[in-house]
Amino acid sequence: MENCIFCKIAAGEIASAKVYEDEEIVIFKDIEPKAKIHLLCVPKEHFATVAELDEGRAALLGRALQKIGALRDALGLSEGFRLVVNQGENAGQTVHHLHIHILGGEPLAW
Ligand code: 5GP
Ligand code: ZN
Repeated sequence: MENCIFCKIAAGEIASAKVYEDEEIVIFKDIEPKAKIHLLCVPKEHFATVAELDEGRAALLGRALQKIGALRDALGLSEGFRLVVNQGENAGQTVHHLHIHILGGEPLAW
């Protein structure tokens, strides 16, 4: 997908502070952190919202969640964390490549 910032980060064409990467996802620090720890988990495949999930993408997101759980302690999130996936305009989604915000490192206000 051309001109997609997260495709470029996933491909290594734009620098980011990556904390984890495998063949299908990358996790990196959000450039404007909204909590002490604020990471973004991004599938390398480009799609914008859960409305575009097929079986393969649904399974990919399941594996992404499983990986976040497995990395919890290594990422400094053992005291708890919040996952947020903004979808579309009303949610304020600004990057139209699906991403899971991972927020933690301190008590979070709702
Ligand atoms: P959204 O509002 O779409 O749910 O979240 C997009 C997130 O991506 C925002 O929290 C924003 O700070 C982050 N972001 C946007 N551009 C970049 C970038 O170039 N690098 C990194 N690391 N984060 C970015
Ligand atoms: Zn993309």
